[in-house]
Amino acid sequence: MLNKRIVVLGAGVSGLTTATLLLQQEKAIKVHIVAKHFPGDLSGEYTSPWAGAHWRSHAAKDEIREQEFDRETYNYFWKIANTPYSGVMIIDEFEYWEKLPQDFSDPWFKTLCHEYRNLRKEELPVGVEFGITYKSISINPSTYLNYLFNTFTSLGGTTQRANLSHLNECIESDTDIVVNCSGIHARTLGGVEDSDVFPARGQTVIAQLPQSYMNWAFFKREANGESTYAIPRDNGEVTLGGTYEVDNYSTDVDYDTAAAIIHRCLATRPDLLPKDQPHLIIKMHGVGLRPCRKGGVRVETEWTTSEKFGKKILICHNYGHGGSGYESSYGTAQSALKIMKEILQS
Ligand code: FAD
Repeated sequence: MLNKRIVVLGAGVSGLTTATLLLQQEKAIKVHIVAKHFPGDLSGEYTSPWAGAHWRSHAAKDEIREQEFDRETYNYFWKIANTPYSGVMIIDEFEYWEKLPQDFSDPWFKTLCHEYRNLRKEELPVGVEFGITYKSISINPSTYLNYLFNTFTSLGGTTQRANLSHLNECIESDTDIVVNCSGIHARTLGGVEDSDVFPARGQTVIAQLPQSYMNWAFFKREANGESTYAIPRDNGEVTLGGTYEVDNYSTDVDYDTAAAIIHRCLATRPDLLPKDQPHLIIKMHGVGLRPCRKGGVRVETEWTTSEKFGKKILICHNYGHGGSGYESSYGTAQSALKIMKEILQS
């Protein structure tokens, strides 16, 4: 990709990871990020700051492509864990099932995750039939987004704040490639308008615990289909969740839902609350829209012609990560780089 000028649309975890990898792995290219939202912004239209976030693969047994994205990302986070200012740390993950499904079989990542094992009966919380544990990764979203942003700019990457109505608006006379990391907006963005993209609203409560109090996360599947989880961050915050509401675009906080989340979390793991602390200290409430897509994440290239500049432009899409944007971020960005190189070489 020598001497190419690349514009990345989007500064969420997908755009920042792809833009940073481009500069780290390719020689003599220029990368420019254009986005409405950047790290530090808190908006319902910008999903990345609202994530938990931890690595807990959603890839099913037959989803080999998704497994590879998640595998690469697990290994990457494992390597950079505890790097200063990254917000990435290794944790003990506990997955609980209130009722063990009859068709349960071990997840694909049994052979990937360090120290994977089934939980013993005496290790299960009250009301839980079955559980597993393994070493996983927690990512503090705002710290990690800033870490990516700072790495990107220190490598010479440039940025511009703009709200675009069409993908073509990224293209300047010297643009060769556009990477589309527009998240949920891929549904409405001109030139993309992907009707397979839909939101899954997620509401959370962010509480403050003493720093280093918690180095474990849990994710519980309730018998009624709901999920309850708690994910620690390196600064002592813990994200309590959650909801998964398909096609719900509301970014308003529902305080009854928040109360129910807190209740479910404390009922599952009363030790979330330090012994000398009578109640949780709530820092904020969160609502984010997971950028889901029928058929899964789109990592794909296509050519377009810029009428304005009379030239062909390569478009590389990397959007539609749903609830897996962090845990697949490195793998999907690597895949985007690979397919861009392949098409340019051919
Ligand atoms: P976004 O973060 O939304 O970024 C999109 C970017 O594109 C923004 O910069 C935006 O400004 C820009 N943009 C879009 N359209 C335009 C336009 N027209 N003009 C200019 N700029 C534009 N994932 C995990 O892996 N692990 C978890 O534990 C986890 N937990 C989650 C919990 C919750 C409650 C939620 C809501 C999500 C969770 N996720 C988790 C999912 C994860 O947050 C998302 O998959 C990820 O953040 C998507 O990132 P993105 O960069 O694709 O999109």
